[in-house]
Amino acid sequence: MPIYEYICEDCKEHFEKIVINKQQEISCPKCSSRKATIQLSVFATAGKGGFSGGGGGCCGGGCGCH
Ligand SMILES: [Zn+2]
Repeated sequence: MPIYEYICEDCKEHFEKIVINKQQEISCPKCSSRKATIQLSVFATAGKGGFSGGGGGCCGGGCGCH
């Protein structure tokens, strides 16, 4: 199933939706706005749960976030 990323134009919430029918209405989970803009960076979802899934070593400690 295709998962698309959206950004709400009202509250700038970034969310993902599984889109079964492209005609379906997308509403923001945060503010229920229907003015969500689709993001075409499909591959952004691929990294989720893989590299940073565990917790702990985000990047080997070289990023200064620890
Ligand atoms: Zn919103």
